[in-house]
Amino acid sequence: MLSCCGRRLLHLLGLSFPLLTRRPLFLCPHRLMKPLVVFVLGGPGAGKGTQCARIVEKYGYTHLSAEELLRDERKNPDSQYGELIEKYIKDGKIVPVEITISLLKREMDQTMAANAQKNEFLIDGFPRNQDNLQGWNKTMDGKADVSFVLFFDCNNEICIEGCLEGGKSSGRSDDDRESLEKRIQTHLQSTKPIIDLYEEMGKVKKIDASKSVMKFLMKL
Ligand code: UDP
Ligand code: MG
Repeated sequence: MLSCCGRRLLHLLGLSFPLLTRRPLFLCPHRLMKPLVVFVLGGPGAGKGTQCARIVEKYGYTHLSAEELLRDERKNPDSQYGELIEKYIKDGKIVPVEITISLLKREMDQTMAANAQKNEFLIDGFPRNQDNLQGWNKTMDGKADVSFVLFFDCNNEICIEGCLEGGKSSGRSDDDRESLEKRIQTHLQSTKPIIDLYEEMGKVKKIDASKSVMKFLMKL
């Protein structure tokens, strides 16, 4: 089901959607509301985080960055996963799915417990590979609906430049050229096939991250 915000977002992106997917409001009383999820994917440096922040400002989604949740968990002294997460991130590898999903689910549950109407989530940087997708399907089957995948398509060189630029200020452990190249490889080998799977289901909205739509979104 595509929500009101989802439809407005697609409309503004110049993308169509089937009106028939709209479910009358009386069929979804708040207590029955499920999380509605837009997965945001794209290579390193494609600008997922920046654009998600703009979308949130404009449309009121709740932005959940898998990366940020993992980094916060890594800093949590009570977490048993801190070192493991650090190692995976530094190597540009994908953290085991149970960890990522438990963090995403906790955030969605807390957000909706505080306000049941806040059921629209932009999940940025997830699912990254087959294992992530299987984990999501297994854990969230019937508990959340994925509206579509917003894919920020970016040429590798532009992605690398973007990250090196961002890394100067972020000081992140994985924003050096070596980590970046590993992340690009991981994106091409592991994440791109997931985007292709959603594409086959007609659920991908592709945005050229290096061109005008980016500017267009920035002006929104
Ligand atoms: N990461 C992960 N699982 C996720 C999302 C992120 O393991 O679902 C880790 C992974 O190591 C990745 C890093 O977090 O390289 C940074 O994630 P981000 O989404 O920022 O990737 P980027 O696009 O910056 O490479
Ligand atoms: Mg990032």
